[in-house]
Amino acid sequence: MASYDYDLFVIGGGSGGVRAARIAAGLGARVGLCEERDLGGTCVTVGCVPKKLLVYGSMIAEELRDAAGYGWTVGEAAFDWPTLIANKNKEIERLNGVYGRMLEGAGVVVHEGRGVLIDGHTIEIGGARRLSADKILLAVGGWPMVPQIPGREHLITSNEAVFLPELPKRILIVGGGYIGAEFAGIFNGLGSRVTQIYRGPLFLRGFDDDVRAFVAEQMRGKGVDLRFDTDLVSVRPQEGALLATLSEGQALDVDCVLAATGRAPLTRNLGLEAAGVEVDARGAIVVDEEMRTSAPSIYAVGDVIDRVALTPVALGEGMALARNLFGGASGRVDYRDIPSAVFSQPNIGVVGLTEAQARAQYGDVTIFRSTFRPMKFTVSGRPERTLMKLVVDKASDRVVGVHMVGPDAGEIIQGLAVALKCGATKAQFDATIGIHPTAAEEFVTMRTPASS
Ligand code: NDP
Repeated sequence: MASYDYDLFVIGGGSGGVRAARIAAGLGARVGLCEERDLGGTCVTVGCVPKKLLVYGSMIAEELRDAAGYGWTVGEAAFDWPTLIANKNKEIERLNGVYGRMLEGAGVVVHEGRGVLIDGHTIEIGGARRLSADKILLAVGGWPMVPQIPGREHLITSNEAVFLPELPKRILIVGGGYIGAEFAGIFNGLGSRVTQIYRGPLFLRGFDDDVRAFVAEQMRGKGVDLRFDTDLVSVRPQEGALLATLSEGQALDVDCVLAATGRAPLTRNLGLEAAGVEVDARGAIVVDEEMRTSAPSIYAVGDVIDRVALTPVALGEGMALARNLFGGASGRVDYRDIPSAVFSQPNIGVVGLTEAQARAQYGDVTIFRSTFRPMKFTVSGRPERTLMKLVVDKASDRVVGVHMVGPDAGEIIQGLAVALKCGATKAQFDATIGIHPTAAEEFVTMRTPASS
């Protein structure tokens, strides 16, 4: 074997890259990693973690209102955005440090700077230093996309939303996916006037239709001005604010326009051509089942391969790759039944198939559906409702989809995802004793089909 500086060199210190580097080093490989921004990547720095902290912060407004029904008199409440952002930043810096120490502790050599491929075994860092590696892992992630409209330079993305110096009084959110729904809840909870627009007839495409309609209703009930079949045409500055022109001539005065219109793999200027790494039409790196690119010594995981852009998936891919390369394993990531949550308000938690997908795949399905006001809100008077839905394949009695909209949906669905992975049947759900009084017990007490 040629003598390389490293057995594995990882470009990108986000979820997938860090996990692969640590596991590989733990298995005895000589591992290097480079990162041009903060360690922890999108998830830790501008994604999952800061977003969830802002969600927690924004939920307190409703909790303060709930308090009255429980007999609490709360003095006049005031919210200070800069305090929340400063405390969030402190926590993120702590996590950046934790990631650095974790890598160091595992024996991974961390290089600061942007890594570019020179060939299949050579990486240049920061346009200066060159290093060599037997194997290279590309884990450079993705980046928000901004629509090509006049005035697009006035739009921000989630990257900037978590660092805004001031809370916008009026914000327009463009896009009806995960990020749009989550930030609509954050800003609405914190007191901004929120308008969220989506180009199609119903947002959250890909989720179960009942979930999509139910979330829309709940968000509107909380005060979000949700407009469907609406596009952003242009944005221009006007009297210290922004004038957003929407389709069909509607105009909106706002302080901020947030583009939550998807993310794209960050593959530009990475030296992919020089190293012979192929990308698809969306710019995503093409990999086989073993995460190997078209260049035999180069692998890729995470958002840059654009399979499932979720942190736990990137972690799974990074771990499987490291074990396969250095631990003699031959594992594959199982992309079936990946649970996920949208931290909108209320939360969405799902695993398995939507009703429409199940009907297409199995033909005969039975649907169990329940909507109710959570016990906590009966006394507080909050009008928010919860939705739970089970999709069952009639022939095998297997539960093939579990959907929830309501408080802690992500927490509840995580456990049910294990049941789905084990192929649980509706009879087994029915045989499970509920925990009373919880919302989650509804999932094991739904007896009457809503439709079949
Ligand atoms: P999504 O792909 O989830 O949503 C993008 C939204 O923008 C869709 O409603 C899409 O519409 C719309 N859109 C796309 N292009 C345009 C355009 N040119 N003009 C107007 N609307 C447009 O992307 P997000 O940015 O919300 O998030 C990116 C990914 O990050 C998610 O898909 C998810 O994988 C991950 N993520 C996960 C989170 C979690 O696990 N809780 C949280 C945040 C992000 P259409 O549906 O019609 O295509």
